[in-house]
Amino acid sequence: MTSERLHRDWPQPRADLSLREGYHSAQVAVEVRLNTNESPFPPPDGWRLALIDELAALDFHRYPDRAAWGLRKALADLHGVVPEAVFCANGSNEVLQSVCLAYGGPGRRVVTFEPTYALHSHIAHLTGTGVVEADRREDFTLDPEAVASTLADAKPAIAFLCSPNNPTGLLEDRAIVESVLAAAPGLVVVDEAYGQFADWSAIDLVGDERPLVVTRTYSKTWALAGLRLGYLIGPPSVVEVLERVALPYHLDALKQAAGRLAVRFTDEMENRVAVIVSERARLLAGLDRLGMTTWPSQANFILWRPADAAAVWRGLLEHSVLVRDCSTWPRLAGCLRVTVGTPAENDRFLSALTEVLA
Ligand code: PMP
Repeated sequence: MTSERLHRDWPQPRADLSLREGYHSAQVAVEVRLNTNESPFPPPDGWRLALIDELAALDFHRYPDRAAWGLRKALADLHGVVPEAVFCANGSNEVLQSVCLAYGGPGRRVVTFEPTYALHSHIAHLTGTGVVEADRREDFTLDPEAVASTLADAKPAIAFLCSPNNPTGLLEDRAIVESVLAAAPGLVVVDEAYGQFADWSAIDLVGDERPLVVTRTYSKTWALAGLRLGYLIGPPSVVEVLERVALPYHLDALKQAAGRLAVRFTDEMENRVAVIVSERARLLAGLDRLGMTTWPSQANFILWRPADAAAVWRGLLEHSVLVRDCSTWPRLAGCLRVTVGTPAENDRFLSALTEVLA
């Protein structure tokens, strides 16, 4: 029974929240957890040691640097932009929320191209922004003409793309991103939570003259999902607007230091990415060998479809292997999604799947 039903005479939440469910993945105790697209490897020891040094010197009795300047400067150097072009928040989800707060809101709309990352429409709803969900083609690619007519009809304040797209793993072509940019009347957001695994990045297209922002996260390639840190690269004029909706001191001092130090370990991060990309190919080949329908992935996960998703998901769980069950999500009937793990975890997954299918 919901709390509203239990307490009819209590203050009621906004009516438009009643139908909204959160986006949660099961956090069950298993030996092989391949359901939330985290890094299977921990961050480097050198990063931990550097953080311990910083921790000893932090002024915890003072508010942190409100502008998070050191962190933004480190990220700006990494991407070859100015610090004013970087906006940071507590996870890229909070970056997306800031975008919706600043550019969405009542009377405005976002457009999403489904299936895509569920939080784009969810956060839009939470911020009172209307959502127009347009369809992708059957093969999950975008049809340029359909995209253009959706944008012309919906006139969205924000158009969301996700590249590589979660949960399909497909990368958007540069030409498609450019055509969305040309046709969109508002801000274009390219969510690149999985950008480092892919062949190209829309960060190359960011410039002062274009209303384009690209979001990134520390949760995947940087192996820091527990830190809750994300950012976007965009025109400084947009970053300035986003700062207006961020709460004062929203990034604590420890997080700022941790994020700034992580960037020193870019080589280690790239090594992890290389291992995952090569394991991704091995996993894809294994799934194909087992006769599964698969989609080509440029991310750290693979979308696939067995004959009986519910039975396979349960069977894997019985082998202590957890994957994401997308089979009941709209447009993804029968699909499961597996995160690329360590080589040993991927072996466990493939052998468990072989047994489940037998
Ligand atoms: N965007 C996409 C496409 C994602 O898949 C995720 C993580 N599930 C996020 C954003 C959120 O990442 P963060 O941990 O930085 O909030």
